[in-house]
Amino acid sequence: MELVRTVAALGARADAARAAGRRVALVPTMGALHKGHLALVAEARRRAELVIVSIFVNPTQFAPNEDLASYPRDLDGDVAKCRAAGVDVVFAPAPAELYPEGAQTWVEVGELAKPLCGASRPHFFRGVATVVAKLFAAARPHVAVFGEKDYQQLQVVKRLARDLLLGVEVVGVPTAREPDGLARSSRNVYLDAAMRGEALALVRALDAAEALARTGERSPAALLETAHKELLRAPHADVDYVELRDAETLAAVAALDRPAVLALAVRFPAPRAASGAVRLIDNRVLRPGSQEDPR
Ligand code: AMP
Repeated sequence: MELVRTVAALGARADAARAAGRRVALVPTMGALHKGHLALVAEARRRAELVIVSIFVNPTQFAPNEDLASYPRDLDGDVAKCRAAGVDVVFAPAPAELYPEGAQTWVEVGELAKPLCGASRPHFFRGVATVVAKLFAAARPHVAVFGEKDYQQLQVVKRLARDLLLGVEVVGVPTAREPDGLARSSRNVYLDAAMRGEALALVRALDAAEALARTGERSPAALLETAHKELLRAPHADVDYVELRDAETLAAVAALDRPAVLALAVRFPAPRAASGAVRLIDNRVLRPGSQEDPR
């Protein structure tokens, strides 16, 4: 396995693989790798002969009051995990590699980037879309693998790859969870034992709404109320959003008559995080059920 620090070296490696007729896969991450990231690597391995993992804590997707400085970083540990997982290239650039002096070009995705995390973190998707476009330009992959845990991000990246004619196939991988159901996240390390327990409210909220949908309930208000009630059973949960949106367009839905994503974002107090709180997200795609639904 190779650790590559520059865009030039990465491009040379990817071009050589392409010229030899090998497929190239890219797995973009911000490091502090966990089993969720490794599930993406496994999917990349199934789809390509050269697997590149990028590790870059992208400054432009953090607002000044967010956790850029304290975001967990462990390059040595990440490199060891990538080696063990059979990754071919780890790309870990310095910020100036991806944002050359005087950089002033941005990628902005439209409607998909506005609701949910786009509403509570207005700078976020511009930063994500811009860095993903740069990583695609640098690695020139055939396929790029992203997690469904960041559902809106996956839709935004699929859209930008199509809109900018990048010729990259964007593949989603189901959310990897801890044994008790909590979605794996680099930010889970900020949670103490009590808040770690309360964070399970996110999974209970998704489960409860899904169970209600299976009985045939189609009213967004009823489904959202059920989810909200579960979240409020966690005394320290500070709900950022609970929304039901069309699974493809992320537009608001009047009824659950086709697949819709129930998306949650909740803050918990976390003295270990610089901001004093950790914001967790999770989601589930709900499908219209009926009373006869045998599931
Ligand atoms: P991050 O390092 O958190 O920016 O995430 C890098 C990639 O890993 C993104 O595509 C995420 O959606 C994905 N990812 C993070 N956590 C999980 C998880 N629990 N299951 C599946 N994918 C994940």
